[in-house]
Amino acid sequence: MDFDLSEEHRMIRDMARDFAREVIAPRSEQMEKTGEYPYDIMDRMADLGMMGIPYPEEYGGSGGDWVGMHLCIEEIARGDMTLAASLEVTSCIAGQELFVFGTEEQKKKWLVPIVKGTKMGAFGLTEPDAGSDAAAIRTTAVRQAGGWVLNGTKQFSTNIGFRNASVLLTAAVTGKRESGKNVISAFIVPRDTPGFRLGTRYDKIAWTASATHEVILEDCRIPEDFLLGDPSRGFSQHLAVLETGRISIAAMAVGAAQACLDASLRYARERIQFGRPIFGFEAVQFKLADMAAAIELARNQYLKAAWLKDRGRKHTFETSVAKIFAAEMLEKAASDAVQIHGGYGYMNEYPVSRIYKGAKLLQIVEGTSEVQRMVIGRHLANMA
Ligand SMILES: Cc1cc2nc3c(=O)[nH]c(=O)nc-3n(C[C@H](O)[C@H](O)[C@H](O)COP(=O)(O)OP(=O)(O)OC[C@H]3O[C@@H](n4cnc5c(N)ncnc54)[C@H](O)[C@@H]3O)c2cc1C
Repeated sequence: MDFDLSEEHRMIRDMARDFAREVIAPRSEQMEKTGEYPYDIMDRMADLGMMGIPYPEEYGGSGGDWVGMHLCIEEIARGDMTLAASLEVTSCIAGQELFVFGTEEQKKKWLVPIVKGTKMGAFGLTEPDAGSDAAAIRTTAVRQAGGWVLNGTKQFSTNIGFRNASVLLTAAVTGKRESGKNVISAFIVPRDTPGFRLGTRYDKIAWTASATHEVILEDCRIPEDFLLGDPSRGFSQHLAVLETGRISIAAMAVGAAQACLDASLRYARERIQFGRPIFGFEAVQFKLADMAAAIELARNQYLKAAWLKDRGRKHTFETSVAKIFAAEMLEKAASDAVQIHGGYGYMNEYPVSRIYKGAKLLQIVEGTSEVQRMVIGRHLANMA
């Protein structure tokens, strides 16, 4: 076994770490307060090649791998979770679905700008009546005169509200199987298609700078060749890339928890009560020790899942373990970090307050913690 990062991995991690510390973290409070989208930061991330880490150079990427991508996501989340989420949705989810299932022409047209970061991709699976039960979607796509006509509503779509969002990769029902189950296909739906309407910008309790919108498709007509991949396997295509998204969520949780540990350590050494730094009190030190231990475990687990993915090996179990453990670990770490900061921890100017407010989301997106436990349960049933 080899736990050392390669030279390339270390370079990616250090580049993202420096960028997050110098550029992202100082803006995080303002972004959360105003809800303004940080286009200038996203442009700089694109210039640094962050959106293209795991993609071949011929598509504008840097020919790296998924370990490198997730080291980058962890570090960006250490500065601000919303930017890490924008990165993972465009790159790990939308970009990957285009890369793995797209035709050469589709890749040139839609993937390359996503990989270069000039355009942002979005992913449309969830609907008002189809969340964890994603196969229950009602959006339809009907073949008509050399194209497809889509009708339906997609909910909670991350990134689609950005002005440079290009496409929503949309799952839609295209028929019925003999078993009575729906056939679901995946489509590349450009945001500027007539009949594509951006609905509500959601008023979230945190993550205000993340562009989450409802999308309404009303007689939205796209050409035949905007169908993505195998028409009978659109649902599995969507689920396949979501699996990578779960590694990303785990990496984000680790980055945010590390930010909690960094801030809490600093604070505990500086804050004097009863004549000495509160770091000297065992009750405070144990919280920090638990945080450090949990971060270490969560980091090892998401890296293992990414490492397996890089080797083309099955990683469903390892990914769900990473996602549950890291997301739940973050909620506890953020709560303990606020506790260590006392009253100051409840003030918006302290990053731990922002992470505390935002932490819960990671147990919900890309499959809730309950769904991850169901995935692990299925794995155990197959082992028996
Ligand atoms: C900010 C944000 C961004 C998002 N971005 C995207 C995006 O870009 N694209 C996209 O497609 N979706 C996105 N989502 C949707 C997200 O993936 C869903 O919210 C999530 O999958 C849960 O679905 P739901 O909200 O409908 O909850 P539900 O599925 O209704 O679940 C409600 C509760 O019931 C539990 N539950 C449901 N079924 C079971 C079961 N069988 N056993 C046990 N418990 C169960 C759930 O775990 C949960 O606790 C986003 C959501 C948010 C909040």
